[in-house]
Amino acid sequence: MTARIDLHTHSTASDGTALPAAVVQEAAAAGLDVVALTDHDTTQGWVEAAAALPAGLSLVRGAELSAVHGGVSLHLLAYLFDPDEPVLAAALGELRDARVRRAELMARALEAAGTGVTWARVQELAQGTVGRPHLARALIEQGHVGSVAEAFTSQWIGADGPYWVPREDLDAVTAIALVRDAGGVTVLAHPRASARGDTVDDAAVAELAVAGLLGLEVDHVDHDEQARADLAGLAADLGLLMTGSSDFHGASKPVRLGAHLTSPAAYERLVSAATGVEVLAA
Ligand code: AMP
Ligand code: ZN
Ligand code: FE
Ligand code: FE
Repeated sequence: MTARIDLHTHSTASDGTALPAAVVQEAAAAGLDVVALTDHDTTQGWVEAAAALPAGLSLVRGAELSAVHGGVSLHLLAYLFDPDEPVLAAALGELRDARVRRAELMARALEAAGTGVTWARVQELAQGTVGRPHLARALIEQGHVGSVAEAFTSQWIGADGPYWVPREDLDAVTAIALVRDAGGVTVLAHPRASARGDTVDDAAVAELAVAGLLGLEVDHVDHDEQARADLAGLAADLGLLMTGSSDFHGASKPVRLGAHLTSPAAYERLVSAATGVEVLAA
């Protein structure tokens, strides 16, 4: 049987709703052979996920980095890097600080508008790296929206919404180099997720490939068939590997663990390119 490999999940260490231990337990229950934990801008969940790793499941330790290239925001999935490498660790800390500054500005704007959302409540809802999904949950609590997705619109905290505030992110070329210098590898997350805002064009992806990007996340819930076909062609042209993954966020999003998968061949190539930390197996 082909191994079932899901290389993109979130826990309560960022904006998922399942504890890191629950992510690996649910991954095993979903029949996965390999799962990557990729919380936003943090490695905070690694230890708990490793300690709870069920027999038969392999854990790829990673993170999803917030970055920018040519003025376009993007996410980089970073895998198997050394979390103690000081320059990368400092950059991750700076990204988390920028998230706090931005979330506070957004929360205070919602507070000033009389929504009942408070920065104190948003901080309680964020057990790890804070993000807009925590603001969305506060809006749900106050009865303004019915789901996290409904908060990501032009009425609320979507990129075109009145309460949206930009965030200072890491330069993507710099981020790719920092991860590589820490022994890790990078994959561009959901490159054609256009509903989230502007996406990088093919020329920009080519620049990231030159900078050392290893792969593209092709099979993702936010990509339609055309986007997947285009990305597969681009990956072939640039010699990049292709991944597929769920981008699981627990109850925050409808997508389930294992909804999209990575081929064993691409996975082997990814693992063999990394030297930071090992894949863990219980
Ligand atoms: P932030 O990183 O704080 O800007 O928040 C963006 C995060 O919110 C993304 O990484 C997703 O996890 C989540 N997100 C973005 N768009 C949506 C959506 N339409 N519905 C639910 N979650 C979303
Ligand atoms: Zn997220
Ligand atoms: Fe993302
Ligand atoms: Fe993600």
